[in-house]
Amino acid sequence: MISPISKRGVMGSTYDWVVVGSGINGLATAVVLASAGRSVIVLERNAAPGGAVRTEELTLPGFRHDLFATNLNLFAGSPFFAEYGDDLVRHGLAFAPSDKPFSSVFPDGRFVGVSTDMAATLDMVGAMSVADAEAWTGLADWFGEVAPHLFPLLGTTLPSVQAARALFDGSRALGWTWPLDLARLVMQSSREFVEEHFESREVQALCASWGMHLDFPPDAPGGALFPFLETFASNFNGMVLGLGGANTIIDALVSLLESRGGALGLSSDVASITIEDDRAVGVELATGERISARGGVVANLTPKVLFGRLVPSANLTPRFNRQVAAYRHAPAAFMVHLAMSGLPGWSAGDEVKDWAYVHIGPYLEDMGLAYQQAVGGLLPERPTLVVGQPTAVDPSRAPEGKHVLWVQVRVVPSTIRGDAAGEIAATSWGDAKEPYADRVIELIEEHAPDVASKILGRHVLSPEDLEAYNPNLIGGDSLGGSHHPMQFAGLRPFPGWTKYRTPIEGLFMCGASTWPGAGVGAGSGYLLGKRLVGKRSSLFCR
Ligand SMILES: Cc1cc2nc3c(=O)[nH]c(=O)nc-3n(C[C@H](O)[C@H](O)[C@H](O)COP(=O)(O)OP(=O)(O)OC[C@H]3O[C@@H](n4cnc5c(N)ncnc54)[C@H](O)[C@@H]3O)c2cc1C
Repeated sequence: MISPISKRGVMGSTYDWVVVGSGINGLATAVVLASAGRSVIVLERNAAPGGAVRTEELTLPGFRHDLFATNLNLFAGSPFFAEYGDDLVRHGLAFAPSDKPFSSVFPDGRFVGVSTDMAATLDMVGAMSVADAEAWTGLADWFGEVAPHLFPLLGTTLPSVQAARALFDGSRALGWTWPLDLARLVMQSSREFVEEHFESREVQALCASWGMHLDFPPDAPGGALFPFLETFASNFNGMVLGLGGANTIIDALVSLLESRGGALGLSSDVASITIEDDRAVGVELATGERISARGGVVANLTPKVLFGRLVPSANLTPRFNRQVAAYRHAPAAFMVHLAMSGLPGWSAGDEVKDWAYVHIGPYLEDMGLAYQQAVGGLLPERPTLVVGQPTAVDPSRAPEGKHVLWVQVRVVPSTIRGDAAGEIAATSWGDAKEPYADRVIELIEEHAPDVASKILGRHVLSPEDLEAYNPNLIGGDSLGGSHHPMQFAGLRPFPGWTKYRTPIEGLFMCGASTWPGAGVGAGSGYLLGKRLVGKRSSLFCR
């Protein structure tokens, strides 16, 4: 039985559109459809919406933890937000901005922090290397020039006339070699990029650590673009978190959707897509209940969840089934959530407490080794850590004077073959997750010796826990599939299927597995919604 959270929503068993999954992209598509007057229902298997965006009192009462995503920059800077931001604010969305977005600490007690204060950032970078401060200025200038042309490119479908136009406009403004400069950047590894520009190992690591947020260790081709964009977008704009938790964007999206007549069915596990005459005409829930869709079905699902499970492979061509089988997932994430009596006492100084993210790599070599160990099935001896200090930005997430830490471990194996340190014997995540969390805390203690003594509560999410909560996080892959070049841009998710269509007429895909990929930017959901309601929608839907 569908349990709608809104009585105002369009209820019944037939809608124009059925959206499977209430991740950020499924909700974005639904909002666009409902705003254009289409009847739409979003069906979510969990008891709460949002997929990989969820805030809960996970450890102790009063301590609000972002279970998964916490950095909302992609959402705040998205075309979706540009169009619907005012509405979302009216529906309760509130950001908590930080002007000190990210930093790195190093074993010798040094620290580099990037803030929106360019002079202060250059001082910190310059303390590592005067030449690097000059190079930083040059790159920041270049970012300022290319960003107005690059971001529109990332906000269009690929390939498309709009993308060609964005490249053309960029070339007119920046010179005809700009597409070549861009191609060179896109093909570089993060090591090639940072070593080309910076001489100090610390500044190199500061920038390259962003690659580890995706599946780009320093030597993976294609890994330079994200660190470049994240480094300088954060340098100029800071970082935004959600006030009270990342859930603010989900709550506001649901409220906006309901206000426009859309419905949300929670605890509604979709068992199959109903296909008649090779066309998607609705869905069947695990309970056996059927819901019809006049326009079609939007699946906010990763290919291996949608095809083979919800759409029988017999409905697909052998080539398409091979493409689904070959779809590659990235190594897993591992989360340690801590309720704290205080922020870590960083050896590098109390000022570190002000930064939203503290990266512990520490160096390129460590990041590369950790990645290599994880893809080889080993628990990394010294994984890369992203230590988020959300309560430094938004104290409302914990009781007065108390804090939460959001620790993302990059990366770990989905299936454990052994331990690179030779200490943890367990090869099931059920048994390994707590000892591995102990290792993570010991690594933080190397930079903040009082961390363990300040822990009031902890909750660990292993790769298995991530997938159990959200089937899209296959093997704990937080990215909805590898972002390596063979599976990115005009190749995501598969060559020939990059515009949210599928081989089944009336069945569309959005989400992290589709362009522009992972993150809370709502990009695929917005682009798909626009195409479904646009002038060319009937052509597109065929
Ligand atoms: C640990 C972690 C940390 C992250 N940190 C950040 C960050 O700080 N900033 C950032 O920008 N991004 C971050 N990301 C990535 C980002 O959160 C995701 O890429 C994004 O939220 C995925 O959105 P989506 O639209 O693909 O849908 P998903 O979030 O995958 O949601 C899909 C929904 O579909 C539901 N579903 C699946 N199968 C069915 C079914 N059969 N029937 C009904 N419902 C179904 C699922 O339960 C889920 O709710 C993080 C991800 C993780 C896991």
